[in-house]
Amino acid sequence: MTRIAFIGLGNMGGGMAANLAKAGHDVRAFDLSPEALARAKAAGCLPAASATEAADGAEAIVTMLPAGTHVEAVYADLLPTLAPATLLIDCSTIDVATAKRVAESAHTHGATAVDAPVSGGIGAANAGTLTFMVGGSDAAFERAERILSDMGRAVIHAGANGTGQAAKIANNMLLGATMVATCEAFLLAEKLGLDAQTFYDISSVASGQSWSMTSYCPVPGVGPDTPADHDYQGGFATMLMLKDLKLAAAAAADTGADTPMGAKAAELYQRFADAGQGGLDFSGIIKMLRG
Ligand code: NAD
Repeated sequence: MTRIAFIGLGNMGGGMAANLAKAGHDVRAFDLSPEALARAKAAGCLPAASATEAADGAEAIVTMLPAGTHVEAVYADLLPTLAPATLLIDCSTIDVATAKRVAESAHTHGATAVDAPVSGGIGAANAGTLTFMVGGSDAAFERAERILSDMGRAVIHAGANGTGQAAKIANNMLLGATMVATCEAFLLAEKLGLDAQTFYDISSVASGQSWSMTSYCPVPGVGPDTPADHDYQGGFATMLMLKDLKLAAAAAADTGADTPMGAKAAELYQRFADAGQGGLDFSGIIKMLRG
């Protein structure tokens, strides 16, 4: 059993903190939202009145916050108060530069930090089946892995601090681009007179196959049960995909990487969000492409 502070108990953090409590850890939880805090209490966590109160005496602190600015603000409060060697695990999806900066600051204060963003949505957070991509030293990874494995089924060491976030945004840029391309391919096949199921049967065992097609098919009634079968409700919201594509675009600009497909995907998801569809699953972009 480890004493763990958990900060940020929203859609993702709520289920993750509950799984840590279920695994027998002593979880001290904090969120600005009283409702989120009440849900964490019902799930077996001990609510705290502030992030610093939750972190007091904790061996590890997990954060699951909306963006880099939130992580930076919470770390600025926490770092001066931490016992040496406290392990900080940030599971939020944030920009690589901030991830590196907060880790450096943590190390300056004698703490150990890893970035550990996740793949998998709210369902996986609740079920404890997330994939974690971890950036940090070998020793920090070993410590983090013991905690993260109680919230997920895969914990992968990506490299030094920041590389977890790099893996996350590169992966999601690929996902955004392949989803748009998969939607386009179904629509072209349809215009050419091909039935969607027939195109799926062929392409899913041919060279066009991808996760977007065979695990997350954007066409209702084709392939496994996906958000398409529920009018694009649930799943991975368009605004979260757009957030990740913007992080990828910023990282590409910072590093001079040429990512025209990622940029096009960002532009299309921006249009879809601007049309008021930001809450729909990202595979719902097929509706916009259909016209
Ligand atoms: P969310 O908005 O549901 O939850 C964030 C929580 O953080 C909220 O409850 C909010 O009150 C709390 N919060 C904000 N500032 C705080 C502070 N200073 N102190 C304490 N609590 C604070 O967001 P989410 O969907 O849970 O996503 C969290 C992170 O996970 C994001 O970075 C997101 O990009 C990433 N992510 C989300 C999904 C998904 O499907 N939702 C999937 C993968 C990754």
